[in-house]
Amino acid sequence: MSEKITPATAMHYPWQASHWAQLVAQVEQQLIPHALILSGPKHIGKYQFALTLAQRMLCEAPVGGYPCGHCKQCHLVAANSHPDMLKILPEDEGKAIRVDTIRELGDFSSKTSQQGGWKVAVIYPAESMNLNASNALLKNLEEPGQNTLLLLVCHEPARLSATIRSRCRMVKFPVPSAIEARPWLSQVAGQHEDIDQLLDHSDGRPLLALKLLETDSLEQRRSFEEMLDDLAVRRSTPLLVAEKLMAIKSLDKDPVAAVDWLYRRVASDIRADHGEGSSRLMFRYLDRLVQAKKLLQSRANPNVQLIWEELLLNWQHLFIKR
Ligand SMILES: [Zn+2]
Repeated sequence: MSEKITPATAMHYPWQASHWAQLVAQVEQQLIPHALILSGPKHIGKYQFALTLAQRMLCEAPVGGYPCGHCKQCHLVAANSHPDMLKILPEDEGKAIRVDTIRELGDFSSKTSQQGGWKVAVIYPAESMNLNASNALLKNLEEPGQNTLLLLVCHEPARLSATIRSRCRMVKFPVPSAIEARPWLSQVAGQHEDIDQLLDHSDGRPLLALKLLETDSLEQRRSFEEMLDDLAVRRSTPLLVAEKLMAIKSLDKDPVAAVDWLYRRVASDIRADHGEGSSRLMFRYLDRLVQAKKLLQSRANPNVQLIWEELLLNWQHLFIKR
C-alpha cells in the first residue's frame, strides 16, 4: 500500500464535493438547520464528512470554505479536546448508544459555548441509540441549544424514529460512482491492485474496498469462489467445502460474510440467466440465504457447519454444470 489517508489530514472524500459545497454555502448564509441526518450506506465516509463539517463550524478562519487547520480551534479539534465538540459513540462497536450518553448531550447543549462560537455534536451511528436514548434525544431536538448543531450520522435512517426524522433535515449520501471512486482508491491502494474487482466486491463502497485490502477477506472471498467452482464441477463436496469454510478465521467474527458472498454470486447468476427457466428456483434459493443469514445472526446458537452443508448441497443441485 503506497499511502493511506488518515482522518486527521483528509478533508472530505472526492465524491462528497457537491454535498460539501452545498452545506458550507448554507453555513455561510446562516441557513444551516440545528440538526442534520447524514444518511447513506456504510463505508462511504459519512462520519469523516461530519467531523470535517464540525471542524468547519468551529474554525476561526476558514480558507475557501474549509477549516484552516492552524487556528486554536482547529488544533483543539485535531487533539480531540475541543470543549465545544461532542462525539457520541457506542461504548463498543456494534453496541447500543445508551441514554446516559445522550444525557451528556443535554448538558452540552444547555451550556454556553466555551470558545465563544458554535457547539457541534456528532452522533454515530445514530440508529444504534436504544429506545430510551432516542427519547432523550427527542427532548434535545425539541429544545435545541443556541448555536448548537447536531449531526446524526446514520447508515439506516429507517431505524430512527419517525419523530426524530421529522425534526432533522436529511442529507442523503449515495454510493459513489466507479468514476468517482476509482481514482481515489487506486491512489490509496496502489496501482498494482485490481481496483475494479475491489470495488465490485465491496458494492462500490470505497472505504470497504480499502478494508478488504487491509484485512485478508478479499483473499478469503477468492478462495471461497474457488471452492464453489470446485463444487460446481464435482471436484469437491458440500461437506468438504463446509469444513473448509469453518476453518476461515475471519468468519468466526462475521459468520454471515460468506452468506453475503454466496448471495451476490447467485444474484449475478440470475442476471446472467436471462430468464432461462431456472430463475424461480434461484430466487427461492436467495430467500433461503436470507433465512440462513437471520439464523446465523440470531442468538439461537445454530449449528453453523450444518447450515452450510445444506446451503451448499442445495446450491450444487441448482447450479451444477450438467
Ligand atoms: Zn481553523
